[in-house]
Amino acid sequence: MSHNREIDDLCPAPEFLPELATQPLSPPIYASAVYRCQSPQQADRLLSGTDVGYVYSRDGHPNADLLASKCCRLHAAARGCVTGSGMSSLALAALAGLSGGDHVVVSDQLYGKTLTFFTQELQRLGIDASTVDVTNLAATEEAFGPRTRLVVVETISNPLVRVCDLAALAEISHRQHARLLVDNTFASPAVCRPLEFGADLVMESLTKIMSGHSDVLLGFLGGTSESWDRVPTALSTWGLSAGPFDCWLALRGLGTMALRVERASQNALEAARFLLGRPEISAVHYPGLPAHPDHELAVRQFGAIFGSMMSFSLAGGQNAADQFIAAARRIPFCPSLGDISTTLSHPSSTSHRGFTEAKRRELGIQAGTIRLSVGIESPQAVMSALEEGLGGLQ
Ligand SMILES: *Cc1c(COP(=O)(O)O)cnc(C)c1O
Repeated sequence: MSHNREIDDLCPAPEFLPELATQPLSPPIYASAVYRCQSPQQADRLLSGTDVGYVYSRDGHPNADLLASKCCRLHAAARGCVTGSGMSSLALAALAGLSGGDHVVVSDQLYGKTLTFFTQELQRLGIDASTVDVTNLAATEEAFGPRTRLVVVETISNPLVRVCDLAALAEISHRQHARLLVDNTFASPAVCRPLEFGADLVMESLTKIMSGHSDVLLGFLGGTSESWDRVPTALSTWGLSAGPFDCWLALRGLGTMALRVERASQNALEAARFLLGRPEISAVHYPGLPAHPDHELAVRQFGAIFGSMMSFSLAGGQNAADQFIAAARRIPFCPSLGDISTTLSHPSSTSHRGFTEAKRRELGIQAGTIRLSVGIESPQAVMSALEEGLGGLQ
């Protein structure tokens, strides 16, 4: 075979990497799966944790650490890590903290995949779950058993944006010797910081509001030092880590999160008030409205902003939903949330498709229920896009 200089020189010598006199303002993307060790002694110190540094990206890399430390600051979390998706952050919390024979108490209004994970997937590993309406504290306490180790709730539920009392749930969980894990995805740390209310673990689907641009799939798990013992080992061993490029994109998105959430929350409040006054609408769900069942709790827990998520029901049912979605051409029908653009979803055909109609009715989800993820457009643009949808109703 002929000598080929390009192939022979594939691996640059360490001195090839420039020692920079100035540092880049934007962090580089460290697209390397592995790091070059100086000696067996150094490798040993790095792998045993005596020295801090990188060896293999599944165990950690600079882009994941930059993103995790930013998320930790936003949540006032002592510890935190980034995973490949929101679901893998939830899986990490369970795999690190639970064993066969344990029991979990979970909200009956959790994100669909989360409910499947805790009630079906974990059951195959011998971990049982009870589902309960966590806005009912007495019923929640009754759901505990002697082996209950973990309680899983969402700060703001989907799609009826019910708010749960985090301080009370933390108190109940701790009295029963269990940890409280809060999925804060619908709120984001710009609206709520669950660890400050006593939660042990907080999880975010960074895919949604925190990244904000619908271009990555990532999760964050943060927590107190006491709840963290097995997490780093479980992260690497179950292979739940995130890639450098996604982390880099998410960090860029995070830079504008506070501004985005503030603007989107103002728009959402205005949209909720606008829809409330319309005869075509039979219900408007937004925690910022005084008539919302959890409004006072939301004021206590969130302060003055109530987030970008809301829902409403069209009096005309399924037909009206079809007509609204077809006519609201500037509001894309996307079963996700947290984008800079306003998007809508139709829970009975997407997130809650798997529920029986009776169960949906019990939860308050109708065929005419539309969920809105309000974006950062001007308020006029949001209202006129909604007006366009309502104009399509016959
Ligand atoms: C999207 C979502 C998840 C899952 O996150 P992925 O990043 O899609 O894996 C979990 N909880 C809630 C509330 C979500 O909206």
